[in-house]
Amino acid sequence: MDRDRLLATFLELVAVDSPTGHETEIGRLLETRFAGLGCETSRDEIGNLLAVMPGTGPGTILISTHMDTAGSDRGITPIIDDGLIRTDGSTILGADDKSGIACCLELLTLLRDTPAQPRPTIEFVVSVGEERGLVGSRHLDVSRLTASHGFVLDTAGPIGSITYWTPTSVYLTITFTGRKAHAGVEPEKGVSAIRMAAEAVAAMPLGRIDEETVANIGTVSGGEARNIVPGSVVLEGMARSHDQAKLDEQVRAIREACEHAAGRHGGQLEFAAEEIYRTYRIPEGAPPYREAADAIRSLGLTVTPRKSGGGTDANLFNAKGIPCVALPTGMVDEHATSERISIDDLVAACRVLVAIATRTRRDGGPT
Ligand SMILES: [Zn+2]
Repeated sequence: MDRDRLLATFLELVAVDSPTGHETEIGRLLETRFAGLGCETSRDEIGNLLAVMPGTGPGTILISTHMDTAGSDRGITPIIDDGLIRTDGSTILGADDKSGIACCLELLTLLRDTPAQPRPTIEFVVSVGEERGLVGSRHLDVSRLTASHGFVLDTAGPIGSITYWTPTSVYLTITFTGRKAHAGVEPEKGVSAIRMAAEAVAAMPLGRIDEETVANIGTVSGGEARNIVPGSVVLEGMARSHDQAKLDEQVRAIREACEHAAGRHGGQLEFAAEEIYRTYRIPEGAPPYREAADAIRSLGLTVTPRKSGGGTDANLFNAKGIPCVALPTGMVDEHATSERISIDDLVAACRVLVAIATRTRRDGGPT
């Protein structure tokens, strides 16, 4: 593989603005690039890119990345500093997940330039809206895919790690409704939604609950003016656990704190808990784990099983019946302005991908 070409591709992708929800330009560019490297490409109505590289042997695998970047940063200017790519600190870098996409394009370039050897068909999915709660992969019609299993290039962690287990994540939207009143003239006629929300939050178990369970209330919005008893407040939060029963218990405890607070003051409560992605756990012997591990070892690297606290599109593919593991791309501090990636790690991540896609399988043929 060509280190300079991979780096140039990565820098080209990072320079294209693609804050989540604004993927038109990057989507168009990527469709052109994947098609130009021999893929049959199509976009679905939400903007996900599907690119299929026909195989020269049996079997079909999925390789998944996402084209949007976290937050709203634009005008990202990468700086290369002693083998490390970062920004000036005013924006994120967008290595999440442009590094994964750059690896895919380098793989395709290698496949184009390498004499045919038996390898599986590869279905690339480059999703939109991943950073807004896996929007693209949630809407993806997986009946368009034929892959038996897959690999999602979208995690941090040392090269050689395999994310085989992630939590379920639930988004919480909690609305307290009290009664508005003039706070200066007749406050006794009001029921303060802010007081209810505050008492509820104070009573909730939040933060790290145990090794596998976390919960957070992240935003509070409501009230109208300093002299009006607030009639309504909305809390947004989330809860995650690797253990479904613990998660159910956690959501129940948060709801109970809200019900008690609303009940004490005679207010109303609307409590919505929406599952955003569901836990998966891929056994060591299952194809995506085994093939990733074989590829990693074939490069002389160490396999590190990783139990992650966050979700990726892998959660959706697993839930929709395509077993997937998630693999690192070299990204560090994703979603922060300190985000960076070392060129060596980017190259190593790409080598792992190439090994997965081209290696002769243990049973003698591609699977
Ligand atoms: Zn990502």
